[in-house]
Amino acid sequence: MAQNVTLNTPVSDLFMVGQAYAKKLAKLEIHTVKDLLYHFPGRYLDFRQTRTISQLKPGEIITITGKIVSSQNIYTRSRKKIQKIIIQDKSGQIEAVWFNQPFLVSSLKPDKQVCLSGKVDVFGRQLSLVSPEYELFKDSAGIHTGRLVPIYPETRGVSSKWLRSRIAPVLKLPIKEFLPPVILKNHALIGLEESLKQIHFPQDLQSAEQARKRLAFEEMFLIQLISLTRKKLWQTHQPTQVLKLDQPKTLEFIAGLPFKLTSAQKRVIKQILTDLTKDQPMNRLLQGDVGSGKTVVAAMAIYLAWLNNQQAVLMAPTEILAQQHYQTFQNLLQPLGMKIELITGSTKTKRQPLHPTPCDLIIGTHALLHRSLEATNIALVIVDEQHRFGVEQRAQLLKKAGKKTLVPHFLTMTATPIPRTVALTLYGDLELSTIDEMPDNRQAVKTWVVSPHKKLAAYQWIKTQIKKEHSQTFIVCPLIEQSESETLKDVKAATVEFERLKTIFQPLKVDLLHGRLKVKSKKQAIDRFRAGKTHILVSTPVVEVGIDIPNATIMMIETAERFGLAQLHQLRGRVGRGAKQSYCLLFTDSANPQIIKRLSYLEKFHNGARLAEIDLQLRGPGEVYGVKQHGFFKLKLASLNNQALINQTREAAKLVINHLNKYQGLKLWLKQSKILT
Ligand code: ADP
Ligand code: MG
Repeated sequence: MAQNVTLNTPVSDLFMVGQAYAKKLAKLEIHTVKDLLYHFPGRYLDFRQTRTISQLKPGEIITITGKIVSSQNIYTRSRKKIQKIIIQDKSGQIEAVWFNQPFLVSSLKPDKQVCLSGKVDVFGRQLSLVSPEYELFKDSAGIHTGRLVPIYPETRGVSSKWLRSRIAPVLKLPIKEFLPPVILKNHALIGLEESLKQIHFPQDLQSAEQARKRLAFEEMFLIQLISLTRKKLWQTHQPTQVLKLDQPKTLEFIAGLPFKLTSAQKRVIKQILTDLTKDQPMNRLLQGDVGSGKTVVAAMAIYLAWLNNQQAVLMAPTEILAQQHYQTFQNLLQPLGMKIELITGSTKTKRQPLHPTPCDLIIGTHALLHRSLEATNIALVIVDEQHRFGVEQRAQLLKKAGKKTLVPHFLTMTATPIPRTVALTLYGDLELSTIDEMPDNRQAVKTWVVSPHKKLAAYQWIKTQIKKEHSQTFIVCPLIEQSESETLKDVKAATVEFERLKTIFQPLKVDLLHGRLKVKSKKQAIDRFRAGKTHILVSTPVVEVGIDIPNATIMMIETAERFGLAQLHQLRGRVGRGAKQSYCLLFTDSANPQIIKRLSYLEKFHNGARLAEIDLQLRGPGEVYGVKQHGFFKLKLASLNNQALINQTREAAKLVINHLNKYQGLKLWLKQSKILT
């Protein structure tokens, strides 16, 4: 190995890697020596049984050692190349064959000692080893044969064998432990160097398991430590303005609402208003199922800022939602004297700084991030439907609205039900408020999975329902490609479907909504629907987030199997927002019992948190929380389903967070990860 290799050395500097392989390795997200060491095997082949050649029986998976007697390339009539090698030990001889690896005979030459591992097969009526793993015999233990042999996630041109040959030499590097001894001791964890050795080339399965345990702990522990560090950093800030509670005005506001707040709403409002009056900036995550009434909670916080002569910002993930919020807040807050401004990508005043004072509440989309927020008095920032925003963007917004160590109070709202333990891990720097109760005028949305032969009847039923109940229907076509946003293809598919549905539902009024429409057309489509001028709104999943149209009582979802349960629940949440009975029809052409079963959970369960749990078990956290797409935390070993591990690592992180100076290894790690500066 080259001199001076450290964990941070780029893989391209390693012996027998180079630029070409580095490119391939990048696909596996391996860039440095450390990444290589943290590229863990998914499983092992058990080649620990050694046999002499005469003992071999067909079907056994074994390792033999012997001398090469002959070695040749054979060309078949179909111009394929077969490599035949005869091996001999004291007890007898056996033939090993490979296909299309002509280079092999130049390394496996007669008289060399070789180890072969694989399955004993019958080839041309004799016992034979077909494409076994091989390595020339050395005194030290092998890495491809005669042991538990790791099998890795691979990519084109990078096989497990190739990876083994590159990983084994770097395992000889000295690797420094960075977990504090007290944590190793408390949790009975083995050391880092030993763990890395054992996870790649385990002595036995028990050692592999111990290594896995340690490395999974480390992974989750570091996430917890990041969260706690962020939290600690946050606490060093001061709010741009400490707000004063105005109890009479607040109660008056509540009394003026067209409904009675649920006790859950009251509880979280109290938590939030208390935060706002502290001399530390709030950083809170408000979660509540779709329709649980988060908007009014946000309104109360905004109102308090205004009572203190401060501005507030509300950021929404889509233009449609920003516009809806604009309307809601106009209705709710304008009568009280507040001035509200909407800023989206399409508003004309682009690139101009925000008005410093005339406006009290700024509502907008990502476009806000491109605006100068200087000369503003922003004391409160609210981000709706936070799972659509990256952590980065949140930081960006904060930087804009804040003044060095002065930052605004921060509230993020999400309908994604996040189990408490998961929230504590991924969003551990945030305080948590949960609205766990629905307004009591709600009825559960009746949900059915509809198979293909019932489709026509379902259309008929919808038609009747619309006429009889004067209600409205959403029809959602899924995105064709798995992506965060729509492609042109998706729009085309939705358009084709729209034309089809228009015919089916004649003479009802059908409208189309998709993300590529001009903002004005989008708004018009929504407004027409809101005003009851259209009966059916066909759309791509853009309606997913936040739209509130209480007269719509039917949600029909095409090709429902393309969505996760949590997402389907979100879509379903577009209906059932008023007192009328609502319905959700899940269309699927699939006959796969597993898919039907998955969808039918929506028939049984109406609680987002429960569905999210099931989703988490079925699909894994990456899919459910969009963590994968955002490249936020890619867990390799640890699982967000492992509550015990989450709790243990959180405690462990708490134990060391205030003594980082004592643990230089950890501190260095945080610095390298750019968490600490
Ligand atoms: P979400 O939590 O999904 O953002 P919204 O804030 O949009 O939900 O509220 C959904 C609907 O419920 C709105 O029409 C809102 O006016 C209404 N709402 C909110 N709170 C209550 C309540 N306590 N009682 C009755 N209706 C309510
Ligand atoms: Mg909402």
